[in-house]
Amino acid sequence: MSYLVLARKWRPKNFAEVVGQDHAVSALRNSINSENIHHAYLFTGTRGIGKTSIARILAKALNCSDLKNGEPCNLCDSCRSINEGAAIDFIEIDAASRRGIEDTKNLLETISYLPASSKYKIYLIDEVHMLTPESFNALLKNLEEPPPHVIFMFATTEYKKILPTIVSRCLQINLSSASVKTITEQLSKIFSQEKIKFDDISLSLIADAAQGSIRDALSISEKVISFCNNNLKEDMVREVLGIPEPKIISNLLKAILEENIQDVLSILNDYGEYEDHEFLLKTLMDLIQKIAVLQFEKDTHKNNDLEDFLSTDPAKLQFLYQIGLTNLNHFSLGYDSYSILKMTLLKMVAFSDASQKKKSLIDKKQENTDIFWPKIFTDLNLNGISKNILKQASIEKKFNNLKISFPKKTFSIFNEDQKKEIELCFSDFFQEELKFTYDSKVIFEKTPEYEIKLRNKGQKKNIKKIMEKDKNFKEIIGGLKVESVEFNKKNET
Ligand SMILES: [Zn+2]
Repeated sequence: MSYLVLARKWRPKNFAEVVGQDHAVSALRNSINSENIHHAYLFTGTRGIGKTSIARILAKALNCSDLKNGEPCNLCDSCRSINEGAAIDFIEIDAASRRGIEDTKNLLETISYLPASSKYKIYLIDEVHMLTPESFNALLKNLEEPPPHVIFMFATTEYKKILPTIVSRCLQINLSSASVKTITEQLSKIFSQEKIKFDDISLSLIADAAQGSIRDALSISEKVISFCNNNLKEDMVREVLGIPEPKIISNLLKAILEENIQDVLSILNDYGEYEDHEFLLKTLMDLIQKIAVLQFEKDTHKNNDLEDFLSTDPAKLQFLYQIGLTNLNHFSLGYDSYSILKMTLLKMVAFSDASQKKKSLIDKKQENTDIFWPKIFTDLNLNGISKNILKQASIEKKFNNLKISFPKKTFSIFNEDQKKEIELCFSDFFQEELKFTYDSKVIFEKTPEYEIKLRNKGQKKNIKKIMEKDKNFKEIIGGLKVESVEFNKKNET
């Protein structure tokens, strides 16, 4: 059985057979029933969701000689010729291969001729966004005033690349990706009729891999069916599609969270160098995303195989997801995918380790009531007056109570704006809500100002020591030595 067979056999032949596009189908059927026919249709949506299939059904319906309730009969000459790909009045063009102005001109020259045997002459241009700007312009002229017997149908995966002047002249039919449920139901129906045995997990694995496209689901099914010899089993489907066992992914995440690099590398090694590494990363990210959502849902903490992960720090999950998301882009750069995956996972371990250490540092600061304020002062994100004010202050932190003590004179320049800025800065630094009190009982030895003075003194002492030890320097300085030391002494006090 080849892909063509299954896909062609199950390609919808009328609107009723189209799956998962109810809105589009009923709009088109209504427009045919009410004879409200547009001269240009634009079908948009991602690949493999039935844009050209629906366009063909519409073309059949427009030219059918035995239309029933908006549906083509599939029996008349016109319907049959379209089904067989032999219709003279239904012209299909792939703009990806015929995008130039000459191709478009040749095509447009045929517009003035009346249809050979049908009501309408219908042009279906697939991947219309691929046309060159010159081709678009030529097309636009014909769209402005098309002959009454001509109907254009355009299909595209990237409608934003189409000139707005073209889009505005079309009836836009936006098709949506099929849900996993829709695809599963359709596959179940097809497999049952094709006498193919399957289990539910196999179906959902195929539906997941199809990413919203019924056509992809069918092409994947072809591969799986021939490998499994008409009897689909979960483990075999996983093997064909390269979908790792859920256990592999959860073990991998566990190793990352435990910062166990050895385990991470050994799981990766077992998974193999020639598998789909981008897919493995995506699956890992799916798991992280699932856990992150579950953490905020009530009543999910039981009967869940993800229970072990639910106590993970939500910020850490966000962090890992972010790393995965950034590194996914790298797979398209053409580097060795195995290396990209390996480096991504190592980054997840290394960075979450670093973020954890930072967190534990803050935790320690929170516990420790005897904080070293001058060091914190240099880490605070302060500027201008607020910085000067705090330089002269000593602080004391007991749990979430923070007392700031200034010299008396400082209170005269301390206003509400600075207060707000300082409080925000501290809360931000300690990552908790703090209660602030202020007084004027500053302990000078505990202020950053004192610390800075001490440090400068130390540096000067060191410089002096180096100077005194260095013979060459002594010679150069010579008689100036006494004065320089005297000068420094003045500055120290
Ligand atoms: Zn017909």
